Amino acid sequence: MTATADILVVGGGIAGVSAAAELAREAKVILLEGENALGFHSSGRSAAMLHYALGNPLVRKLTQASRDHFASPPDGFEKLAEPRALLIFAREDELDGLATLRADLAPFAEIEDLDEAGLHQLCPALRIGGDDAVAGFADHGALRLDPHALLYGYAGWLRRRSGTIASDARVATIARQGSGWVVTTERGERFTAPLLVNAGGAWADHIAALAGVRSIRLEPRRRTIITFDPPEGLDGRDWPFAKTVGDELYFAPEGGRLFASPIDEVPTDACDSQADEHEVALAAARVEERTLLKVQRVVHRWAGLRSFSPDRMPVVGFDPDDPAFLWLAGQGGFGIQTAPVMARIAAALVSGTGWPVASVTPDELRPGRFR
Ligand SMILES: Cc1cc2nc3c(=O)[nH]c(=O)nc-3n(C[C@H](O)[C@H](O)[C@H](O)COP(=O)(O)OP(=O)(O)OC[C@H]3O[C@@H](n4cnc5c(N)ncnc54)[C@H](O)[C@@H]3O)c2cc1C
Repeated sequence: MTATADILVVGGGIAGVSAAAELAREAKVILLEGENALGFHSSGRSAAMLHYALGNPLVRKLTQASRDHFASPPDGFEKLAEPRALLIFAREDELDGLATLRADLAPFAEIEDLDEAGLHQLCPALRIGGDDAVAGFADHGALRLDPHALLYGYAGWLRRRSGTIASDARVATIARQGSGWVVTTERGERFTAPLLVNAGGAWADHIAALAGVRSIRLEPRRRTIITFDPPEGLDGRDWPFAKTVGDELYFAPEGGRLFASPIDEVPTDACDSQADEHEVALAAARVEERTLLKVQRVVHRWAGLRSFSPDRMPVVGFDPDDPAFLWLAGQGGFGIQTAPVMARIAAALVSGTGWPVASVTPDELRPGRFR
């Protein structure tokens, strides 16, 4: 049996599901996911934040254009976010970096400058004064996201628009059929469509290779998160998402616990990423170095892949050598918070209708910039 659609979307992470849902407004879409659940890889392993210290100026614009979707979810979505301030803190030797970051974020963020007393008030767990944090700023517009609700909201849109989700459908071959594609999965199912959307996350270059399309040189990088209990009697639930100016440590409340990351970026192959003992130990050590907290026991640990294009900006657009192949890749560490607008861009490119974000041009995102 061969299933036929207008568009095949490969990848059931947030990129693929959100794009499939937007594309299904005007086309028959089949989404193919290799795992037996959506969001099993990067999209289910994130720190679930929306804040403007992630990524570069282009990413900030894409984040800004997506923010409304989280703050005021459209019909069919449950609550997607709650306020969670971002706190950036700095030692004396990091003050130049703090000023630069503050200036970068100022056009987007609701900034409050913080001295030592202000830092203590917002996050009493920080080591403050002397050789420790002496200044910082908060962005009160940052949000803690619910990626699961985002993913399943889009999946609901896709189904209501007569789209199909095929899970446990790992794409094994992609061959030409006329000007379109015939795709087979490892289990032998066949799908055909004139257009293929590559939302394969860390595997996007691999999917391109299956289709005979040249790589855009994506680099998957591992990031680790640990959770641990706060000290008895200490309630950190109102603490911000706190981050060093440099890429050293972030930590934040998570339910009744705390989570932390050493902000690692270890290059790796596309895989089911697992936490490495070295990064787990580093996370705990940095928590103790920059805060008054003790990590008595790591309750939970996980790792996920953040996949970057060579210029660390996301990629959406038709392959320059193959107009039947649309890239939606390179979402790095900002793929949740930019998903709504990236999905609308993918749909606008396919339908040829209005470009949805005035502050960004198609050229800045097109895959051809790496050829
Ligand atoms: C620790 C960590 C913290 C993060 N924190 C944040 C954050 O605070 N805010 C934020 O916005 N972003 C954050 N991110 C980044 C965000 O998670 C990613 O950018 C985003 O999830 C990427 O989505 P994706 O759909 O491209 O990839 P994925 O979710 O990995 O989806 C790709 C899918 O393609 C499927 N696939 C691959 N090959 C095939 C095949 N041959 N056939 C069928 N299916 C296939 C895979 O199974 C996978 O499900 C974080 C990431 C990590 C790891």
